[in-house]
Amino acid sequence: MESPVGRQYKGARSRLIEELREKGVRDMSVLRALDLTPRHLFVPTGIRHRAYEDTALPIGSSQTISQPSVHARYLETLALKGTERVLEIGTGSGYQTVLLAHLAAQVFSVERIKALLDNAREAIKLCEVSNVSLMLGDGTYGWKAYAPYDAILVGAASPDVPQPLLDQLAEGGRLLVPVGSKDEQQLLLITRKGRTFNRETLTPVRFVPLLGDHGWNP
Ligand code: SAH
Repeated sequence: MESPVGRQYKGARSRLIEELREKGVRDMSVLRALDLTPRHLFVPTGIRHRAYEDTALPIGSSQTISQPSVHARYLETLALKGTERVLEIGTGSGYQTVLLAHLAAQVFSVERIKALLDNAREAIKLCEVSNVSLMLGDGTYGWKAYAPYDAILVGAASPDVPQPLLDQLAEGGRLLVPVGSKDEQQLLLITRKGRTFNRETLTPVRFVPLLGDHGWNP
């Protein structure tokens, strides 16, 4: 990124990309998106110096920004081509929202905590992406107005797959969602083929709870 915010921490960002490469991230478009996205804008100012470590970090309201290698794995799994309409549940810091903005045509993202959404909106604005729409609300209902989606990513853990998200998947669309208990989950990849939803279990994961009517009771 050539803007002033993009130039800040450029060295640290390059080292993170190199580390992710060493950890097995191969998808060039995902690595490029990570390189274009200034993660330091998405963490509280007091811990900016840690923004390019491959670790999850606190972002306030008891929530965390995920580890970059987790985002990379999520995004590699989806193998986006750049033409997709994508729904993200749990905007959080907004970091993954911007990664998605570089990898898809349109990104819709829903967050239930206003303070986080306000911060995310500011940080996203500094990234100068124009294909992101944000909404405050219970993302377990999806975002019906813009459905169907070619991909849906849930960044919080649910006891079950929320039915509205299945309903809002396009033909051939893919849904990534961590499902399980509050302490540990399996990352599921669900692919829609007509009325059939193929379920693949990918890997054990640990996410904060998805709180809402089709998730955990808030
Ligand atoms: N990918 C984000 C992860 C944030 S953590 C990042 O890296 O910053 C998960 C987020 O999901 C939290 O911000 C939490 O508030 C949000 N969340 C939990 N339940 C939700 C719901 N029902 N609707 C929308 N957002 C929800």
